[in-house]
Amino acid sequence: MLTGIIQIGEYILKNRTGDHDELENIIESPNDNGRYNHIFKITFEKTLEKILFKSIEYEEFSNDRIKKYAYKKGSGARGGDRSPTSKLTEPAKTVNKIKTSIKDILESSDQKSEGYDLYKELLNCYDAESESIIKSLDEKVKSISFAKGESAVVTVNVLKDGQELYVGDFNIVKNHLLKIAQEQYYNKYEKISKGTGVCYYCKSNKDVYGFVSTYKFYTLDKVGFVSSGFKQEKSWINYPVCGECALYLETGKKYIEENLTSKFCGFDYSIIPKFTFNVNNKWKFIKLNLERFEKQKFSTADASKRNLLKSEDNFLKVMSESENNLNYNMMIFREEQSGSVFRILLYVEDIVPSKLKNLLKVKDIIDDISLFKGLPGKDDSKYDLEFGFDKIRFFFPNSKTEGNYDKSFLEIVNNIFSYKKVSYNFILGRMIEKIREIFCREEYFDSAVLQALMIILYITKLGLFQENKKEVKLKMVERNEKNAMYLDFIEKNLDVLDTDFKRAVFLEGVLVDKLLNIQYKERGSKPFYSRLNGLKLNEKVIKRIFTEAVNKLNEYDKNYYVELESLIANYLLSKNNISDDEISFYFVLGMTLSKKFMNPKDDKEGVKDND
Ligand SMILES: [Zn+2]
Repeated sequence: MLTGIIQIGEYILKNRTGDHDELENIIESPNDNGRYNHIFKITFEKTLEKILFKSIEYEEFSNDRIKKYAYKKGSGARGGDRSPTSKLTEPAKTVNKIKTSIKDILESSDQKSEGYDLYKELLNCYDAESESIIKSLDEKVKSISFAKGESAVVTVNVLKDGQELYVGDFNIVKNHLLKIAQEQYYNKYEKISKGTGVCYYCKSNKDVYGFVSTYKFYTLDKVGFVSSGFKQEKSWINYPVCGECALYLETGKKYIEENLTSKFCGFDYSIIPKFTFNVNNKWKFIKLNLERFEKQKFSTADASKRNLLKSEDNFLKVMSESENNLNYNMMIFREEQSGSVFRILLYVEDIVPSKLKNLLKVKDIIDDISLFKGLPGKDDSKYDLEFGFDKIRFFFPNSKTEGNYDKSFLEIVNNIFSYKKVSYNFILGRMIEKIREIFCREEYFDSAVLQALMIILYITKLGLFQENKKEVKLKMVERNEKNAMYLDFIEKNLDVLDTDFKRAVFLEGVLVDKLLNIQYKERGSKPFYSRLNGLKLNEKVIKRIFTEAVNKLNEYDKNYYVELESLIANYLLSKNNISDDEISFYFVLGMTLSKKFMNPKDDKEGVKDND
């Protein structure tokens, strides 16, 4: 699964960065918290004959010189940092710390390596002059006024041939740091895991390491990760990765974090492109594709357009527009304990551009349905409902009051992206449950109902519902002037109202909403609401409600809906082939869409929806 990351890492290292930029992965800023703005440089002068301690020089910290300071915090028991740059504590301690580090570098380096002799000379001089270095540093520190909470960094510079050389200018230091970078791949848990073998990725036979853990889920922290009796020292045998591939992984991961990671519906996610060819020498193609992602980061023009994930970044659009020799993995994750635990919640593999394009196309089709357009918003404004995963998240949230539906939500996301079937009954069950809650609180439920309808239509259109639709025979209803409005609507929405019983329940919802509005007009309240059984409906209840509704309308002498009633009665005679959840849903859908059926009498009576 990490192939895509390796490919990107290799591309970056071979095309985008200069010499030794691998060091960027290991060098740290000594001023990452902004409190180390002062740099004291223990400066030596190298002449042809000898090297001399010259003075302590001062400069302000600069981000541009991070590579020159080449700071790398130490972790060993000896207390030194990994290069001769350290944060100032007490001058004497810091001067010693730096000496330890110079010694370590010399000990770990080949005597023939570039700069070895000079560093050896430097150490001797440093050792001999320690007292005077400490004294000078002490004086220099006292001469500078620090702001509250501020401290300083001490480093070692060499003046040679009129040039000022920083720690990071010496190859002997750089090589030492690179070695440390490699060390993390095999030296952990106070154990060494390395050997010679075939690298898991590049398949070449060389030094391979056992602790390459690009994402923490690959960690070998838990004994038993691979097999029982597993020894950490032997992990290089199970998951052997060479130093080069480890570096590609590290670099690729960094790129993905910076450019291909975003948020949607409360989750973090990364997109990992995977090129389905041998990437070598195809750098131009990779460059082109990565640049398209980089550019979308800065384009806000169509941020909301075709944004299925409703994400901060619209990666899906870019993905869908790529060629098919590129596919994608999507990783949804959570970082815990400030990044030390990385939990993969979902990993969707092999998302193909053409299939993704279809997901977006179907979204467009759903968005275009007139039922979802020109809905009443705040202050008489109108808005269009747009499909996206946020609509699904609405019914499958993670909240204190509603519970944690993360698992179900992610499963639906996974199934849609991988074109796997989802359960209609399960999704409808949860949606109607939430709608019922809103209904029982007598709150505005229209938008929830329409969102649910959107989800049903979207998944239906993709053909991803598990339960097969039964072929049903439909009643022929004679059209007349008065029922045409209802029949036209049914005709136009055959996808939704595909069985006679659904039509009966739907139209009954319309009728009941009309009644409620009349009641509200008459008495300022809607007592009939309490007859709706808290939206827990079934065939028996629906028939009871129908009779009661007609009686109520007659009682008010406001039964303008005889044609509608006759349609309902007619459809109700058909066989009930839908579940109770569906009955509840199509009923409340009718209530929601009743405004689509304006009777001339409605206007006369001034009946208006007052939800
Ligand atoms: Zn390799």
